[in-house]
Amino acid sequence: DKSHHEKRLLEQRLDGIGQIILVMANKGGVGKSTVTANLAAGLAQRGYRVGVADADIHGPNQSRFFNLVGQRVHLTPAGLGTRTCAHPALAHPIRVGSLAFLMDRDDTPIVWRDAYKHDFMHHLIGSFDWGELDVLLIDMPPGTGNELITLADLLEHQAVAALIATTPQEVALMDSLKAIRFCQERGLPLIGVVENMAGVTCPNCGEEFHLFPRAHLADALAQLEVNSIAQIPLSPQLALASDTGHPMLLEHPDSTEARAFAPAIDAC
Ligand code: ADP
Repeated sequence: DKSHHEKRLLEQRLDGIGQIILVMANKGGVGKSTVTANLAAGLAQRGYRVGVADADIHGPNQSRFFNLVGQRVHLTPAGLGTRTCAHPALAHPIRVGSLAFLMDRDDTPIVWRDAYKHDFMHHLIGSFDWGELDVLLIDMPPGTGNELITLADLLEHQAVAALIATTPQEVALMDSLKAIRFCQERGLPLIGVVENMAGVTCPNCGEEFHLFPRAHLADALAQLEVNSIAQIPLSPQLALASDTGHPMLLEHPDSTEARAFAPAIDAC
């Protein structure tokens, strides 16, 4: 029957994928998608075969970050074709699968009910032809809702780990702790926490300062036995690079921003 067939298809897909990394945040706008795109770029630059599945249903931005806006995919005998970001710095192009490629227009809002979202998670992984991948990064929707639970169930027998993006201020941190606890309760290995927008350098005097009041991040993480694996500065260049579809790690591999990502890439 249909569901059995779909399950087999999903299993076949997963067979070709080495490690799955769920990039999570418990709050929107902390830079989860930016972190995902740059990690993907950094891993691909090191020679890994990388895919990015954009599961952020309400804000599928990966097509923008990889300069793939307006691209469409079609069904082939092997499934939906992924779109690829090919860059001279990469040995293998990054494969991107996103709902954005299936929509007629890029500004269509998604108002799906949860049942449909459940299907979406299944389809996102199962329908796209990922080919052989060393790492598939999944840009998760914010929160620990339905999508996450669905995905954790789907990937039960897979090598899967989570990475959490947060900004260092108290409200975001408190939310992130929930995501950490979720992973711990589910037995999902945690790679660590990426602190985004962790500092700003004044363009005039070069002094570094913190935009947000520093939360007690180190203490909170130590209590939960989770590592902070990278501190990414708030950077106009990083924002511009993302918004124009040229991930900083590809275009400026020697930048301060790229260096800030390096320990997170090592940790993956
Ligand atoms: P999320 O996926 O958590 O909703 P995004 O990655 O889409 O967040 O980031 C939201 C916005 O903030 C984007 O315009 C992005 O370019 C910008 N942004 C993210 N991280 C940084 C950073 N470290 N410095 C500057 N801008 C950033």
